[in-house]
Amino acid sequence: MIIGIDDTDSRKGMCTTYLCAVLADELKKYGEVSTPRLVRLNPCIPFKTRGNGAVSFEIWVTVTEGEEEKVKSEVKNRVSELSELREEGTNPGVVFIDDNALNLNLKLKNFYENAVREVLTLEDAYAIISELHFDYFGLKNKRGLIGALAAASFLVLQKNKPDYYDFTYELMAYRQKERWGKSRFIDETSVWKADAATYPLTWDTVDVANNEIVFAPHSPCPVLFGIRGNSVDAIYKTFELIDAEPEERKMLFVTNQGTDFHLIKFETAREKLRDYHSYILDGMVSSNPQTIEGGHVVFSISLSKDEETLGSIECIAYEPTKGFRDIIRKLRVGDAITVFGSLKKETLNLEKIEVRKLNLVVERNSRCDKCGRTMKSAGRLQGYRCKRCGTFRADKDKVVVDRGLEEGLYEVPPVARRHISKPLIRMRKEGAEVMRFKHFVSNLFV
Ligand code: ATP
Repeated sequence: MIIGIDDTDSRKGMCTTYLCAVLADELKKYGEVSTPRLVRLNPCIPFKTRGNGAVSFEIWVTVTEGEEEKVKSEVKNRVSELSELREEGTNPGVVFIDDNALNLNLKLKNFYENAVREVLTLEDAYAIISELHFDYFGLKNKRGLIGALAAASFLVLQKNKPDYYDFTYELMAYRQKERWGKSRFIDETSVWKADAATYPLTWDTVDVANNEIVFAPHSPCPVLFGIRGNSVDAIYKTFELIDAEPEERKMLFVTNQGTDFHLIKFETAREKLRDYHSYILDGMVSSNPQTIEGGHVVFSISLSKDEETLGSIECIAYEPTKGFRDIIRKLRVGDAITVFGSLKKETLNLEKIEVRKLNLVVERNSRCDKCGRTMKSAGRLQGYRCKRCGTFRADKDKVVVDRGLEEGLYEVPPVARRHISKPLIRMRKEGAEVMRFKHFVSNLFV
């Protein structure tokens, strides 16, 4: 049986991954429990507490008949007991998928993918739950059923085809209960050393450019820290090297974090860009970047596909993206770029950019051959003239300039990265060596 759970926490406490870890440990008495899954769903959803995460795991109940019902009732009890039900935004949902439904791939695949990329309704979840006769449980308005069904679907799909979706791992360590809400003891020097020993097989433990440790929350939740990476061995090695307060428990998750699965490639002119969706868009910078109040940097790109112009869109690098804004400020009209990010209020919130072709040619008023002074416009469409010598030029000079910016990929620093965004270090397209260099570059410009 696969069990999906979501929406049990609030900003004031709890974490759905902790509830999952508790259940995965406690339910072992009924049979083997799989490595849990942690899926990050649409990062633009307004109801989310933090990273729009939902969890699932599988349990192979080995003992006598009727035990599955006991598992379900234990799950319901724990969710009722540990969820932050007093908080308005906490609406827990649990979905149970039993073994004879595990081959219902297509509907579950669509549901999972839409939960990451689209905005769903509770009715969308109920429709699948009732059509496929899944057992479920919910509290308050039960909105968590959306995430619970998505997380369970991800596990069904991964079970059938382990490599179908890109995935990574996160090892979460949880605090002893009496320490919840108090400041965390984590020896920072040990964290920097641990990161140096395993990066790039682990990532987003520290932010080098901003000199910050980013793998531990500052909230009163039960999480001590989380180590993310591609390699389970490297993750455990990092864990062993970190000196911190004793954990209550730890749990390894298979996750869609660091995969960019939320991004929709904008393919045709017929598509319409929609708020609360995340995109990869090719375009040409159409207004030079400007720093606005609050330190955010904005500019526009004109979108095109197969030489068809599709209008323009505003892009923004928010202040928390720190040194990434210095890259953005170097863009100029005419640069061909690809932007990666989420659309909110018709503005694309940037997570990454690829500078595909820099516009290296700048037009400047010519200098007079005789006196060397800058020539002035002789009027609209009438060329340029030196007022002193009377010399004439039909057009401006075209000068090749050094832009102080290289073509390539740039990303926001770890301190500003969304869980689901793929760090450049994981982008395979350019090969490992180039990526390591780019990571360095993105940190260097701060
Ligand atoms: P945490 O990361 O701390 O676990 P959270 O950020 O995951 O918290 P939740 O408390 O789970 O936030 O709230 C997100 C809510 O949004 C859940 O009820 C979930 O079912 C719902 N949800 C998730 N994805 C979508 C979607 N694509 N469309 C509509 N609702 C969604």
